[in-house]
Amino acid sequence: MKYIGAHVSAAGGVDNSPINAYQIGATAFALFTKNQRQWHAKPLETAVIDRFKKRCEQYGFTSKQILPHDSYLINLGSPDDELLAKSRAAFLDEFKRCELLGLTLLNFHPGSDLKEISLDKCLTRIAESINITLDKTKNVVAVIENTAGQGSNLGYTFEQLATIIDQVEDKHRVGVCIDTCHAFAAGYDLRTEKAYHETFTEFEKVVGFNYLRGMHLNDSKSEFASHVDRHAPIGKGNIGKVAFECVMRDPRIDNIPLILETPEPELWPQEIIWLKEQEKKK
Ligand SMILES: [Zn+2]
Ligand SMILES: [Zn+2]
Repeated sequence: MKYIGAHVSAAGGVDNSPINAYQIGATAFALFTKNQRQWHAKPLETAVIDRFKKRCEQYGFTSKQILPHDSYLINLGSPDDELLAKSRAAFLDEFKRCELLGLTLLNFHPGSDLKEISLDKCLTRIAESINITLDKTKNVVAVIENTAGQGSNLGYTFEQLATIIDQVEDKHRVGVCIDTCHAFAAGYDLRTEKAYHETFTEFEKVVGFNYLRGMHLNDSKSEFASHVDRHAPIGKGNIGKVAFECVMRDPRIDNIPLILETPEPELWPQEIIWLKEQEKKK
């Protein structure tokens, strides 16, 4: 069973997101539980939490179909101690918000070394940030997203993701989200069936499908191995449709949220229909 959706708006309150997801025909969705470009947010109100839970139930979204994304400001591997502390506090707040909403996954970008500390030191800082946060929370799984390797962002190789996971103490509460655009821009080819299978054989070998807790389905406006993160609608970028046909027919990718972050939201209903059709063809 594939759960397919998009990163929908939570404007006006997180309780609007399940409605927005339902309206595009989604069986999964992603959201920001607070403004993704601000450090602070006012606490979630009880009435909003209750409405969010009620609507998720009403429209058939269980926590395993929902993949919240954290704020873009957070850098869990920051070389600056003050910013690291600020990031860890904000990350903990993101976890607590998820817990209040009954959510069990939190998707985030690993972090950036800002070219000031070594790669290994930064990966260790990220793992420590995860350990500290897991210690203070109960149910939410830390879902590390692979990146395009733009700028000084880490997490663009499967080895880097595995190195972080290795240093996380509670292996049950750490996982990864593979973004197809980021993988392609980082140098993992997906353009043919053969390339798809090679990339995911490598993923299985280095990270393991047991850690795969979600995916972001995006085509890529940027070139292969360009390390530039520019999403395109499905079939309208440099990856092309074959990769997404392969995803939809791959039983190793069942029962996790598959989220579109494609740049034209008006296309989401069509993209979801097309993806569902590919699943049926398997
Ligand atoms: Zn992301
Ligand atoms: Zn993504």
